[in-house]
Amino acid sequence: MAGYDYDLFVIGGGSGGVRAARVAAALGKRVAIAEEYRFGGTCVIRGCVPKKLYVYASQFPEHFTDAAGYGWTVPEASFDWQTLVANKDKEIARLEAIYKRNVEGSGGETFHSRAVLVDQHSIYLQAEDRTVSADQILIATGGRPAPHPALSGHEYCVFSNEAFDLKELPKAIMIEGGGYIAVEFANIFHGLGVDTTLVYRGQEILSRFDMDLRRSLHETMEKKGIKILCPAVSEWVRKTPEGRLDVLLSSGQTLTVDQVMLAIGRIPNTENMGLEGVGVELSKTGAIVVDKYSRTNLDNIWAIGDVTHRVQLTPVAIHEAMCFIETAFKGNPIAPDHDTIPTAVFSQPEIGTVGLSEDDAVKRFPDVEIYRASFRPMRHTLSGRDEKMLMKLVVDGASRKVVGAHILGPDAGEMAQLLGIPLKAGLTKDDFDRTMAVHPTAAEELVTMYKPTYRVKNGERI
Ligand code: NDP
Repeated sequence: MAGYDYDLFVIGGGSGGVRAARVAAALGKRVAIAEEYRFGGTCVIRGCVPKKLYVYASQFPEHFTDAAGYGWTVPEASFDWQTLVANKDKEIARLEAIYKRNVEGSGGETFHSRAVLVDQHSIYLQAEDRTVSADQILIATGGRPAPHPALSGHEYCVFSNEAFDLKELPKAIMIEGGGYIAVEFANIFHGLGVDTTLVYRGQEILSRFDMDLRRSLHETMEKKGIKILCPAVSEWVRKTPEGRLDVLLSSGQTLTVDQVMLAIGRIPNTENMGLEGVGVELSKTGAIVVDKYSRTNLDNIWAIGDVTHRVQLTPVAIHEAMCFIETAFKGNPIAPDHDTIPTAVFSQPEIGTVGLSEDDAVKRFPDVEIYRASFRPMRHTLSGRDEKMLMKLVVDGASRKVVGAHILGPDAGEMAQLLGIPLKAGLTKDDFDRTMAVHPTAAEELVTMYKPTYRVKNGERI
């Protein structure tokens, strides 16, 4: 569109925004992208990437212990938090530069600025104090940790953003929440030697996962020494004269810790962006409302990723970006497919899962077959580590389709990625049975569970 400065202006330089900007620019569109903080967004700067690095860091003590069974004598190990943080920062800075360079290399323009909508085609760039215009606008501003203003003393608490860069590793931490972030960080801090307590309001952690996995992970985490208190919530947080924090729980128990971390969900970044003024519809929770093609109620304004509060996962935002490009610039409308998304929780042991949990499958199908194996993985035989691996396939008895696959144990995330393919393709248990095992692996169990462990017929376990 010749009348505008740009064909596409993207607000937000995270995974979704950068992908859309880069691909549109590569198509020859005149593209600009504004990011007020750091290119890379939550995933790269203060989410998935640093988290995974910290998971690796936190696993070393177990490796050192396990080495003895394999004949190794490992001298007493010590850990330096500041070294980990500094090395993480170096890696993040490298990735941040790549993200920015990828857009520029494709011909897009990048701005380090907050961007505010002025009207349906105009964007004010705060850092530059000027307004630019664009034919199409894509909002990909992501989200941030949900605050907890109702908690007295919430100002003493940290969120995942700060947890990566604490000045010192705390001696004791309390983490509130029972979702991905709370569970992953509880394992990270515990692994790094921190006395860790997880406080969750429900009956069992990880409410959206298969109950078998939830129970088994809970048990294993407790065995490692992580304290899990549920159901409970914190009532107040107070500073002690020694500079520590007292936390009163709904159970009546008081904890004294050095840090309290809240991980109670995430909220979309939609404030002070001019959205209301321009008339972009927001949901009650502040998320941008979009149709199935990621278009807002205004026909040239689109939104993808966490800001739309659909599925808060990086690969989903990237997929939504690719669908947006097809729809807006290639005359090939494609709605993002949010069905059967494989996912992992980088707890220790890890969870990898795709499809329906047993409980959800039972609600949907009258005859469900469960194939379940619980065993000690080979790597734990010589190490003597008392940790079981759990594998579970959920099968619709009528169609024989595998509708859920759930794994708890080493490399479960890697397996979930591959299991995503047969489940997405709608393959049957017979297809799994026909597949040759790879021996000796843990994953071979997935193709050698020939007989159902039990069936659930019309809600009744047989
Ligand atoms: P989640 O939605 O996973 O979990 C939030 C947790 O906080 C739940 O246990 C919830 O309880 C609890 N909670 C909510 N409100 C309150 C409250 N007022 N008081 C006490 N507890 C409360 O959010 P996270 O913050 O852990 O993560 C955000 C999203 O980021 C995830 O949903 C996920 O999509 C993504 N993510 C993905 C990762 C991965 O792929 N490995 C890693 C980290 C994040 P209840 O269950 O009862 O509602």
